[in-house]
Amino acid sequence: MSISEPGRGARDRPEEDEITMLKERVRLLTMQNMSLEKDLDFYKKEVQKLLEPPYIEAMVLEVLPDDRVVVKSSTGPNLVVNVKAGIDVSRLRPGTSVALNNRGSTIVEILPSIHDPLVEAMEIEERPPITFKDVGGLESQVREIYEVVGLPLIKPELFAEIGVEPPKGVLLYGPPGTGKTLLARALAGEVKATFIRVVASQFVNKFIGEGARIVREVFRLAREKKPSIVFIDELDAIGARRVDIGTSGDREVQRTMLQLLAELDGFDPLEGVKVIAATNRIDLLDPALLRPGRFDRLIEIPLPDKKGRVEILGIHTRNMKLKDVDLEEIAAITEGFSGAELKAVVTEAGFFAIRDGMSYVTQEHFIRAVDKVRNRMEKRRQLFGTHI
Ligand code: ATP
Repeated sequence: MSISEPGRGARDRPEEDEITMLKERVRLLTMQNMSLEKDLDFYKKEVQKLLEPPYIEAMVLEVLPDDRVVVKSSTGPNLVVNVKAGIDVSRLRPGTSVALNNRGSTIVEILPSIHDPLVEAMEIEERPPITFKDVGGLESQVREIYEVVGLPLIKPELFAEIGVEPPKGVLLYGPPGTGKTLLARALAGEVKATFIRVVASQFVNKFIGEGARIVREVFRLAREKKPSIVFIDELDAIGARRVDIGTSGDREVQRTMLQLLAELDGFDPLEGVKVIAATNRIDLLDPALLRPGRFDRLIEIPLPDKKGRVEILGIHTRNMKLKDVDLEEIAAITEGFSGAELKAVVTEAGFFAIRDGMSYVTQEHFIRAVDKVRNRMEKRRQLFGTHI
């Protein structure tokens, strides 16, 4: 084509326009095609999902040495199943949620766990950072618990040599807030043991169907992390005497307690694991729990006397700036207060000082705090009676 030919450019323009237009159309159609392919893919997957048989949800109970797994299926029975290639068997632990294929023969997926009851049910603390110095009053109880639980943990040979069998389980009983948990934790700190705490009432309210398994796991862990102290708070929730086992909930509680008894019966008192339980309601406990070889040492944790109250107030004001405060006088006007309530008095006195814009706490702040806590105690007593 030569530029000198007149009129040629004008004739070409419609063709060029048409080509540009067609190119644009191709581009748009390609995009449309891509979008439709995407949609098609989506709908194919949806159809696939609708056609697929459902998986069965299950929970791992045990991984066998040959990498097969015992699971409890949501449909009922315990099953021994295989694991699909590509699934990391080391991620399968007791309690892991998994999906089985529809025949129930193979684990095909590890499900994201919304909550692991085992992790939620226990608090583990290796060598708690407190000692008997943090416990006020309770002198004879401190001595006793150290002798019957602490010493056998750190010097088992002493007992083996003399031929004395220390108790396996100790039961602390007394009103709420008197320092039962604190004493058990302080003992663990003192003898540098692992402290494992479970709250028995949670087996009844929160971990239904899991109680026996959690008890088994707690003891397995305690052996693994020995020396260790297993602390079972609110034992009465699973260890209460029952008139008859009516509902399935009752049977579940009974199973949890039987598992606990089996664990207690099954271990050697000198193998580095000790059990301390606590209750506010010893009157409710099943006598089976208190038989020799079980919780056969009872230690009463009473409300503190005046000397105990001075000590407890001293502990909780250790890091507080005080001015002309007479803790003896505060102890004298707090008869009937538990350790937890005395701690609340100290905290409230601190708040009063802050509210008054002061950088230290005075006797007057304490007196106002005592009144406030006493009113709160009174209200609670009216609402719930004496057992709360
Ligand atoms: P509950 O029966 O309600 O479980 P508890 O007897 O286990 O109560 P703790 O939980 O040990 O009581 O006490 C609560 C808090 O009160 C403790 O963390 C501690 O701060 C304070 N306290 C209770 N008793 C004492 C004590 N004897 N010495 C120092 N502090 C104490």
